[in-house]
Amino acid sequence: ALMITDECINCDVCEPECPNQAISMGETVYVIDPARCTECVGHFGEPQCVQVCPVECIPVNPAFVETREQLQRKCEALQAQG
Ligand code: SF4
Ligand code: SF4
Repeated sequence: ALMITDECINCDVCEPECPNQAISMGETVYVIDPARCTECVGHFGEPQCVQVCPVECIPVNPAFVETREQLQRKCEALQAQG
């Protein structure tokens, strides 16, 4: 999963681009729910939030480093939930 750092300027362009509804406004800046972020695996070739973020504040979350296979399985589980 990816994460948003405190460099975030709350511009809101990433939130509507997420195919998994993983992004929301947090207490001070936007946040990514690691349980819902597939790094866009299963939807797009590149993380869509990273593509649109103007300040490049969306790295991999070091607490949630996942393989492509794990991300694919997460995507399938999310889709099964509906
Ligand atoms: Fe959403 Fe993709 Fe960004 Fe993860 S990488 S938060 S799934 S847009
Ligand atoms: Fe924050 Fe980047 Fe998302 Fe804008 S696009 S809300 S700066 S993480």
